Amino acid sequence: MALEKYQEKRDFKKTSEPGAKEPKESLNRFVVQEHHASQLHWDFRLEMTEAIDSGSIVLKSWAVPKGLPQSIGDKKLAVEVEDHPVDYIDFEGVIPEGSYGAGTVKIWDSGEYELIKRDEKVIEIVLSGKKLIGRYALIKTKGYGRNSWLITKNTPKGV
Ligand code: MN
Repeated sequence: MALEKYQEKRDFKKTSEPGAKEPKESLNRFVVQEHHASQLHWDFRLEMTEAIDSGSIVLKSWAVPKGLPQSIGDKKLAVEVEDHPVDYIDFEGVIPEGSYGAGTVKIWDSGEYELIKRDEKVIEIVLSGKKLIGRYALIKTKGYGRNSWLITKNTPKGV
């Protein structure tokens, strides 16, 4: 069950966020949601299998405190958070006061991605969004805690 953590954190009688469904095929989409929670951050989500090459389809998710890199060579800290259900890709709205992640969510960018590489330490992708276009990589990093990655915008040839 990929989405247990997602479900545990939320009371679906109170929040209008989507419930946990797990489709079998990925449409290779991504979204960036601007989340005005207690700390403003951007949630970067990739529609892909739960595990590297198996499992149901979820949104692998990272909270990016300073926003997504938009010029080549930029890198930002991205903290991996719990998998979200694919239906979350369209979510915009207000998470009520007192609920997990309380605050306003709006879509900052969305589109499709092409997967170049995915292993334990690197996820390399080409994004086709409106704002985020081109080759990006998520690179597992140490020094900022267990779930920390860097997201980088790369040259068209890669890392
Ligand atoms: Mn968030």
